[in-house]
Amino acid sequence: MTTNFSLPKTLRRSGSLPSSRTVRIVILGQAAVGKTALAVRFITKRFIGEYDPTLETIYRHEMVIGGDVVHFEILDTAGQEEDALLIEEKIKWGDGFLIVYSVTDRCSFDEVMRLCFLVNHIHTAGARRSNVEPPPMLIVANKKDLEFDRMVSTEDGENLSRGLKLPFHEVSARDGWEETAGVFQALYSDIVQQLDSSPPSFRRRAVSKLMEKIPRIHSNSALGGTGRSFSFSSFRDFLPD
Ligand code: GDP
Ligand code: MG
Repeated sequence: MTTNFSLPKTLRRSGSLPSSRTVRIVILGQAAVGKTALAVRFITKRFIGEYDPTLETIYRHEMVIGGDVVHFEILDTAGQEEDALLIEEKIKWGDGFLIVYSVTDRCSFDEVMRLCFLVNHIHTAGARRSNVEPPPMLIVANKKDLEFDRMVSTEDGENLSRGLKLPFHEVSARDGWEETAGVFQALYSDIVQQLDSSPPSFRRRAVSKLMEKIPRIHSNSALGGTGRSFSFSSFRDFLPD
């Protein structure tokens, strides 16, 4: 076994040097609930109406939160119906999860519980310790601006969140940045709390060939010109310089 040099939390975080961390977030949920809209809203501050629904991307984005430089890696999934091995790799990769449904789509709401159990199962089954905590997860009800088309009440969402003992946020990716950013930041603080309480040597860091195939987009890169053609040119246009 390798020696674990990690210092006690109080020593590690003492002094005024800003720390830098990478957190991996996986966004899960049925098709068309607004997973891409939420990710793009968070990193670009914009809402862009239409994306290629089959596009699967890891967005990379840096942000200063509470004095720490946070490197977000956000996996925006597409197509949960694919083979079980692939979804397992993606779930193993994540430090924290946003489970998204749309308030206009009852079926997407019914899917939330299954996804939570799946994440739980994959992260706790086969773990080396028996008392492994499930990874931080947060339930996101999106499209609350579509009040006319609502099929899932806020109360339904709150009841589910109580039942699953998970935090719940009802948002609209369309309506503003703050709410969406609040979701990512809340998940980030849950992830940090968990990372600080469990030594990194115990964490699963799946580096699989499957994950390497997913295209990565950095929020600071211009992406222009050089022919990496993502099929949503509108997003490229909106990337900040
Ligand atoms: P994904 O398949 O989960 O990635 O869903 P998308 O992000 O591609 O969004 C699916 C559709 O819902 C698109 O037409 C979006 O413009 C729309 N959409 C996403 N979020 C919102 C929202 O908060 N409000 C409204 N009105 N439409 C949204
Ligand atoms: Mg999408």
